[in-house]
Amino acid sequence: MSIAISGLTKRFGQTDVLCGVDLEVSKGELVALLGPSGSGKTTLLKIIAGLEWPDAGRLAVNDQNWLQLAAQDRRIGFVFQHYALFPHMRVRDNIAFGLSVRPRSERPGKAVIAAKVDEMLHFLQITHLADRFPGQLSGGQRQRVALGRALAIEPAVLLLDEPFGALDAAIRRDLRRWLRGVHDATGSTTIFVTHDQEEAFELADRVVVMGEGRIEQIGHADAIHDHPATPFVARFMGATV
Ligand code: ADP
Repeated sequence: MSIAISGLTKRFGQTDVLCGVDLEVSKGELVALLGPSGSGKTTLLKIIAGLEWPDAGRLAVNDQNWLQLAAQDRRIGFVFQHYALFPHMRVRDNIAFGLSVRPRSERPGKAVIAAKVDEMLHFLQITHLADRFPGQLSGGQRQRVALGRALAIEPAVLLLDEPFGALDAAIRRDLRRWLRGVHDATGSTTIFVTHDQEEAFELADRVVVMGEGRIEQIGHADAIHDHPATPFVARFMGATV
């Protein structure tokens, strides 16, 4: 699904958090929102998900106005930094969750859900974890399950908010490679938030650099690295290399 965002603004109290954001994401693209803490990345992701509403602007997915749709009608897969798995549910029930809470008219039968869960477990190479509880998993394994739960609903758009932020460097690298492989196999239109340049540049087709509620530059990793478009981007790149 393609995404078209234009003129998106959002203010919390006296703070302009998004100051007119324009962004187009093509079907199947993997885009990183990169920027320092507080630059509005998560707010933009939440607006796409329907968890926050903008003050002004447009958001279309496949030419459909998404601002008219409630969150549950948007078919979003969302992976949070801190897993948000249900601790009392086994892995297979966590993955089934998104399917089993669809509106009754769209809810698949039990057998269909079980087959879908098996397919996800196999696809994500976590079949051996199916009957464990989240408390019995490592951080990296939990994020695999969280991604399984997000993908099981065959989302129109997959959103990831600092998905590997809580993990240590070696596991992050493994998961990055794995996520890139999963993305290439599913072809899902994906936006992920990170403040980590290496992560953005290694994973994404295009990187969107945000600063103080504005998009400062959009481009491929090399272009941003070699030709920062604004003093902000130059400083940000220099500051965290
Ligand atoms: P990022 O993801 O880049 O760290 P956020 O989108 O989380 O940035 O936050 C951008 C700014 O908006 C921050 O100054 C943050 O404090 C503020 N903010 C985010 N959510 C809320 C909220 N619900 N109420 C008030 N301020 C908020």
